[in-house]
Amino acid sequence: MSIRENLNQLLKTLPAEVKLVAVSKTKPVGDIAEAYSCGQRDFGENKAQEMASKHAVLPQDIKWHFIGHLQTNKIKYLAPFVEMIHSVDSFKLLAEIDKAAEKNDRIIKCLLQFHIAVEETKFGLSLEEAVEFLESQEYKELRHVEICGVMGMATFTDNQLQISDEFMSLRKNFNFLKSRYFNENNSFREISMGMSDDFQIAVDCGSTIVRIGSTIFGERNYFKSN
Ligand SMILES: *Cc1c(COP(=O)(O)O)cnc(C)c1O
Repeated sequence: MSIRENLNQLLKTLPAEVKLVAVSKTKPVGDIAEAYSCGQRDFGENKAQEMASKHAVLPQDIKWHFIGHLQTNKIKYLAPFVEMIHSVDSFKLLAEIDKAAEKNDRIIKCLLQFHIAVEETKFGLSLEEAVEFLESQEYKELRHVEICGVMGMATFTDNQLQISDEFMSLRKNFNFLKSRYFNENNSFREISMGMSDDFQIAVDCGSTIVRIGSTIFGERNYFKSN
């Protein structure tokens, strides 16, 4: 099936209020242009320089979502244009994003990434770590980042119950932070969860943003493209 057919098929199954971020990492700009021509505007990348070079040659109304582990020395590549950084997993990173946003005279939207999977390799905060920094004076002084919600990745497993338990734990973290720190803040409303293999479960668990790549663009070939 073509990118257009994949995208239309997928959009039919997603509730209208759930935002689709089309994950285009490793895929050529032609593929992104094809999805763009179908009306898709939100795209996700996990490497800062790859995202910046795609941003440079594609239509400027694309909203670029950064979804990978971000090293502080790479923030400068995306700070001028990024729509949202889904993968804030330390206070240090958030503070560096704030500095880069200030230099670009903008406010960058961020999500706090939580570690919800059993795998040790996945990045993310614990709820205790998030609470610790949200209560710190240093956090309260940041003026150029806006925390809009949470993000997480479930374990790669066939066990649907485990996946939904993990997504529900992310939703619980969201509800806790919302009621404790962001009750008055309408921007804090996103739960970014769900990929090609588990987005239906994620939507059932209350996802507001799904990040889907291979269902739209086909399997990635890391050997060839990286
Ligand atoms: C690659 C990636 C996705 C998309 O994965 P697919 O299985 O291709 O849909 C979603 N989120 C993150 C953080 C990713 O790195």
